[in-house]
Amino acid sequence: MQHRDDPEPSYDPRSWSRPRPVAAPMPPIAKAAPAAARRNPIPLLAGVAVTLGGAILAYAARPANDPAAAPTPAPAAPVGVSYDQRVLNIASATAIAPTLRSLGIAPADADRTADLAQQALGDTSGLLRLDVTLAGATLHAATVTHADGGGVAIERGGNGALVAKPLTARLTRRLRFVRGELDGNSFYSSAVAAGVSDVLVGPFANAFRYDFDIQREISAGDVFEAGFEERINADGDVVGTPRLVYASLATAAKTRALYQYRLPGDAEAEWFDSSGRSSRRSLMRTPVDAARISSGFGMRGHPILGFRKMHRGTDFAAPTGTPVFAAGDATVTFAAMKGPNGNFVRLRHDNGWETLYLHLNRIAPAIVPGSRVGQGTQIGEVGTTGRSTGPHLHYEVHIDGQAVDPMSIETGGGRAIPTAAMAAFRKVRDAIDAKRAEAM
Ligand SMILES: [Zn+2]
Repeated sequence: MQHRDDPEPSYDPRSWSRPRPVAAPMPPIAKAAPAAARRNPIPLLAGVAVTLGGAILAYAARPANDPAAAPTPAPAAPVGVSYDQRVLNIASATAIAPTLRSLGIAPADADRTADLAQQALGDTSGLLRLDVTLAGATLHAATVTHADGGGVAIERGGNGALVAKPLTARLTRRLRFVRGELDGNSFYSSAVAAGVSDVLVGPFANAFRYDFDIQREISAGDVFEAGFEERINADGDVVGTPRLVYASLATAAKTRALYQYRLPGDAEAEWFDSSGRSSRRSLMRTPVDAARISSGFGMRGHPILGFRKMHRGTDFAAPTGTPVFAAGDATVTFAAMKGPNGNFVRLRHDNGWETLYLHLNRIAPAIVPGSRVGQGTQIGEVGTTGRSTGPHLHYEVHIDGQAVDPMSIETGGGRAIPTAAMAAFRKVRDAIDAKRAEAM
């Protein structure tokens, strides 16, 4: 192991970070509010406030034009009976019976309804919506639904007995696009400020880890765009986690636009460019969780003269604990503490190239000499062990035993979508592009 790390003793990534705090508080996130808070309007009905150990979170009248109203229409009202409808959010299925009883419904009906609902819903947790139609003080119909509209409807059958019918979720899909500029602080703060859900920032930044060295090839002012698919229930509420389907990044030097597509037979979707070529390469250019590279976009040199010449690798400044990934499929050849390298992992890739990861805070337990790792496997986390004065990953690529500049190597193009699947891919791509054009 002839490797020596960091010949410049005063190396400290913090000294070339911009003078903004690494752990700066994130700007406010335009996060989806809980369904109960967003349903609008929610007139709180005075005089019917019911407290059941906090189970009832809101007591709302159903808007008259709510398309979700009575997904299974309640039987027509007998003449002369006045109906009342209530919509309640309850914390769990165990709150159904006490809530119904609190509305004045006879205990036998309240308990029977709760039993039927719990049988249909199974062991579900999370907020439920309880729609109740009362005929006077008698239960006429009830639905218990999840945010996605799925759940159960309970009605009176012809003989007066309560019967349950399943409700399937009614979801529509909507594509949304967000555009922004990198702020020079972090990918994370830039994307969140532009309106990318915090859940999606990691996948978004990591979409580019094959194409860009996020530490050095990205500058403040570079333009990004994220497209994601949201699922909307009948109330117009976003259900579940949005899914990233489009990611683009335009720097002064190059532009990449990527489309998420799952090839028939593949378990997972991956990123393809508009011509149908996978973004995957034999090596990642950014083998660190890209969203967490904290500062220093646009740093193209070290303040100490000769940085590019003296330094054999690439340094990614990121907070301690940031995941570090195997840049490609490989066999582990070294994984231990080693002098100035600190916690050090060395991988031999299938084409004979090697990658080296230094100063790790921690090496993942499965990473031992002889073990196989796939591209993207987490091998450890960023730290500052060994001869290092600030948390960073020192990353090297060796070809034929020689350290090379990771930015200079051509790591080979990704696979192309097979001809047979191209028509289906183009359809997905064109649908995204059409929606993008509308959104601009
Ligand atoms: Zn270094």
